[in-house]
Amino acid sequence: MTLLAQPRLVNDPFSDAGLLLDFRFGNRAMLFDIGDLSPLSPREILRVSHVFVSHMHMDHFAGFDRLLRLFLYRNRTVHFFGPPGLTAAVQAKLNAYTWNLLDEQSHDLMIAACDWTPGGFHHCRLFRARSGFAREDTASTSAEGNVLLDDPDFRVEAAMLDHGVPCLAFAFQEKIRVNVQKPQLEALGLRVGPWLSEAKRAVRRGADPKTTLAATADRHISVGELLGAGALRTGPGQRIVYATDLAFNEANLARVVALAHGANQLFIEAGFLQEDRELAAAKRHLTAAEAGTIARLAGVEHAVPMHFSPRYLGHEDKLRAEFMANPVA
Ligand SMILES: [Zn+2]
Ligand SMILES: [Zn+2]
Repeated sequence: MTLLAQPRLVNDPFSDAGLLLDFRFGNRAMLFDIGDLSPLSPREILRVSHVFVSHMHMDHFAGFDRLLRLFLYRNRTVHFFGPPGLTAAVQAKLNAYTWNLLDEQSHDLMIAACDWTPGGFHHCRLFRARSGFAREDTASTSAEGNVLLDDPDFRVEAAMLDHGVPCLAFAFQEKIRVNVQKPQLEALGLRVGPWLSEAKRAVRRGADPKTTLAATADRHISVGELLGAGALRTGPGQRIVYATDLAFNEANLARVVALAHGANQLFIEAGFLQEDRELAAAKRHLTAAEAGTIARLAGVEHAVPMHFSPRYLGHEDKLRAEFMANPVA
């Protein structure tokens, strides 16, 4: 099965949290948190179109500089979304450098940033390299409900959590899953090939069944025929959830479980052993057992613990064991 987007943790579990969502097609990627990005290649980073920041603790935001350095000489727009204070943090980062060499002839890099709360977007700002990253206020793209980004193929949702400061958790939701059935495809005399990504996209976007595609140079087939013959089958879209840095309290639990409900994959912080739960609570973090409880309550298909406290280096197995067992009441 070819996934629309493949998630991958940026770092090992004892390092900064952060998830790269790499799209199989379209030379595109998205990042959830930008702490240490050094394991990512420039090629991978340059595919990033959207960045979702949970909160601005350094281990989740310090990678902004690496992104900026790589994108500076590109004609691109990079979108940033985060909790209240994100646009001010982006502006502060940009203000830290001297931009006297930028002018109207410079590359047209645009950094668009929006603060989000469950009520919608606030303080949407645009920073253009051509104007020395001077701040421009822009109309807030209207956000509906908890949706931050609505793409024809997927949407990104958020939940506002408490980590001592507001902290966002995110869900990537593919709109429809489209799978290729090879035997049925071959029965039509067709072969698997890059043309199918176009066919799948057409189905995901609800195209007219009469829409035709070039399977080969001399063979055209309609979306309706492919679906009718069972060569393409649809199902519920992939859901990937990223939740990190949250206190284990009732309000957070309700919100994160709702966001992660039925997810195919949940990436969740699981930083502390249960014997240190008071320390975890004081820092507004989850223990591994609490994270495991959330995964179980949400009924996720697959859960990946991350963002382990370095105090347990050498004891990763204990954290993983508590994550898998020990439901917390
Ligand atoms: Zn934090
Ligand atoms: Zn953190």
